Amino acid sequence: MRYVVDLGERPSAAIAGTEARFPVRRIFCVARNYAEHAREMGYDPDREPPFFFTKPADALVEDGCDVPYPPRTQNLHHEVELVVAIGKGGRDIPVAGAEGHIYGYAVGNDLTRRDLQHLAKKDGRPWDTAKGFDFSAPMGPIHRVDEVGHPRAGRIWLTVNGETRQDGDLAAMIWSVPEVIAELSTLYELKAGDLIFTGTPAGVGTVTPGGEIVCGIDGLGTLTNRIA
Ligand code: MN
Repeated sequence: MRYVVDLGERPSAAIAGTEARFPVRRIFCVARNYAEHAREMGYDPDREPPFFFTKPADALVEDGCDVPYPPRTQNLHHEVELVVAIGKGGRDIPVAGAEGHIYGYAVGNDLTRRDLQHLAKKDGRPWDTAKGFDFSAPMGPIHRVDEVGHPRAGRIWLTVNGETRQDGDLAAMIWSVPEVIAELSTLYELKAGDLIFTGTPAGVGTVTPGGEIVCGIDGLGTLTNRIA
């Protein structure tokens, strides 16, 4: 096959303990999946069905790499999240079988141009420019289910220049990982290579150039990125 512009490389993610890589297809993200975070954003955290947005796969940033401060924002926010890597696709996946579709888990940071998101919400516009910008998806290495199991509880935290900003527990998720997969698979046929960012606990806030962000989840290691 010949292509008329450079095909580029398919985005992929590191896997802990192996040189092999995880090819990334799509990045889905869940909004407002922790009650305290929903409240800090001005919403009532009743159990409304989870809702989703996406980022392009080439927005991924590896652990240890710098994130250029993005253009057109005065308010870049961090959001530490548990990321699910889908290893087996499907549609209309039942909650009870959802964990069988998971290849592994990672620590992610759903970087957000919060000022653009506020404008989008006010005007009823899409979130793409607020959420899906270049370098907006730092993610650490994927830890395979056969090594770490399915983390359903445990500390999820984030520091900026050593100061703790977010400190929550996975058990506080409103929609569990299997429930998120079940719901998402009614909207899209999930495929191997898809990633799901599962929402952030309370404490989101601003980062500025020079800020070093460290994210961590019990059992999944840490993710460190500096805002350049
Ligand atoms: Mn988020």
